[in-house]
Amino acid sequence: MSRRRSWWGWGWLDQAVTPEQTRALATSVAARFARSVEVRSPPTLAGLTLPPPRVAAPRLLAHLCSDDTEERAGHTYGKSFRDVVRAFHGQLDHPPDLVARPTSEPDVVALLEWCSSAGVAAIPYGGGSSVVGGVEADVGGSYAGVVSVDLTALDRVVEVDRVSRAARIEGGALGPVLEGQLRPHGCTLRHFPQSFEHSTLGGWIATRSGGHYATNYTHIDDFVEAVRVVTPAGIVQSRRLPGSGAGPSPDRMFVGSEGALGIITEAWMRIQDRPTWRASASAHFATWSAGVQAARAVAQAGLFPANCRLLDASEASTSAGVVDGSTVLVLGFESADHPLEAWIDRAVECCADHGGTVPEGVRAASTEGTAGAWRSSFLRAPYGRDAIVAMGCIAETFETAATWDRFDELHRAVVVAVESALSSICGGGSVTCRFTHVYPDGAAPYFTVLAPSTHGSQEAQWQQLKEAASEAILTAGGTITHHHAVGRDHRRWYDRQRPPIWAESLQAAKRVLDPAGILNPGVLMDPPPRQT
Ligand SMILES: Cc1cc2nc3c(=O)[nH]c(=O)nc-3n(C[C@H](O)[C@H](O)[C@H](O)COP(=O)(O)OP(=O)(O)OC[C@H]3O[C@@H](n4cnc5c(N)ncnc54)[C@H](O)[C@@H]3O)c2cc1C
Repeated sequence: MSRRRSWWGWGWLDQAVTPEQTRALATSVAARFARSVEVRSPPTLAGLTLPPPRVAAPRLLAHLCSDDTEERAGHTYGKSFRDVVRAFHGQLDHPPDLVARPTSEPDVVALLEWCSSAGVAAIPYGGGSSVVGGVEADVGGSYAGVVSVDLTALDRVVEVDRVSRAARIEGGALGPVLEGQLRPHGCTLRHFPQSFEHSTLGGWIATRSGGHYATNYTHIDDFVEAVRVVTPAGIVQSRRLPGSGAGPSPDRMFVGSEGALGIITEAWMRIQDRPTWRASASAHFATWSAGVQAARAVAQAGLFPANCRLLDASEASTSAGVVDGSTVLVLGFESADHPLEAWIDRAVECCADHGGTVPEGVRAASTEGTAGAWRSSFLRAPYGRDAIVAMGCIAETFETAATWDRFDELHRAVVVAVESALSSICGGGSVTCRFTHVYPDGAAPYFTVLAPSTHGSQEAQWQQLKEAASEAILTAGGTITHHHAVGRDHRRWYDRQRPPIWAESLQAAKRVLDPAGILNPGVLMDPPPRQT
């Protein structure tokens, strides 16, 4: 029997947090916020009333399209906190009229031809794990309808070139599906966002996703060798090259295009041999600031650790069990080629230069060991957020990046702004920080917010917190997103961040590639004006 995904929350139904686990979590959250919480039951499909579909698929495409309630409900939102809250409360105002599941590239071409001629908006949908409103069917009133184009049937690793270490992979392949096909070849894409199980290659490329490795070869951008994209104006296929100085790269045009310029049906991806050597250590610091300096020293030493995760004292306590108030820098190296003692030893020296100690010493191992256990708890964590929604509280994460010279000020400004917003909006709550990625010239901090709220207030309060955090980030010189993409939710801040002429250039590209303006309207840029 095939496994079913939750239509309203995260992941597999058989992995969902149980009612008993939710009640236990509610008890600890209530104690933490010193107030009662009300746990409500998850929504049921039977309780949903969706507006009737406004369009029907033409005869030749009917076998690909469905107007089934579970399909439409499950494709209404991505998986941001706000999405899950709205779905939990049965608030599905803009479901797609149809969900199409193409099984080949010609199907994708035919779907876009129909959408362009019938004035139907088409929303490319991979795993639907967007946390920025990237797959939401709220496109305004000028379209005859909306089709969510679910690409997960395009899921094959078509070709592996072991000599060049690259693979041709279809855009709808989910993380475990593509890794499962690469494993017999002894290689891996080695791209592991936290949403790995429920996100796709095409979605990663379209959003410039970041894997959980901290440096080098972690962003999907670095792995793209060539792309194949179906646009309403025709197919764009870039050439496989290890590097090229022949003008601006066509790949770069589509990496980060968020479904607004075309549908990525295939990509040649740089793959890697599976790592066999590993070494790790955890350095403890008396202050956050000392930990930041050590992380910068490691990033600038040319060591390129796979893990360089700086945890503030709160995160060190909850996720690493370090309860003495230390800031913790978790370091890890991986290689398919050589042992790593020299690298980890030098990284530990960099930490010692900034007062870091390594109470548990250095671990060098040739097996996955604790890293595997850590990865499964990392992948399990998002299920807990559904329980927070069910108890009427707020759990939110947001991320940015800034150069080292302005990092301290950015971190301070964001924490102050969010703590002040939490106190005035929710009457309490916490904001914690860790690094997800480090670079020689800066870092990407990732903030987690947990706050009390009540059913009925969560969405409005989340919106106010989001605004406070986003304003602080932009004012302090950070980017509105380091790896979560722009979507619809970040548009306001993205529009301020990008140069105005760049916005016009994107619009010009959209006019050429998508003349009817049917692809994911409202994401990244406004769609061209349409006659209603
Ligand atoms: C719990 C959780 C953890 C997450 N962790 C990470 C993380 O570690 N790193 C990270 O970078 N992000 C993370 N995200 C965000 C999200 O998973 C990424 O943005 C991911 O790349 C989206 O992939 P997807 O296949 O789910 O795309 P979708 O959500 O389906 O779509 C995202 C965007 O890409 C477009 N799109 C999708 N497929 C295609 C295609 N084939 N062609 C053209 N456009 C397409 C869509 O139209 C939309 O604009 C997380 C999200 C959640 C909910």
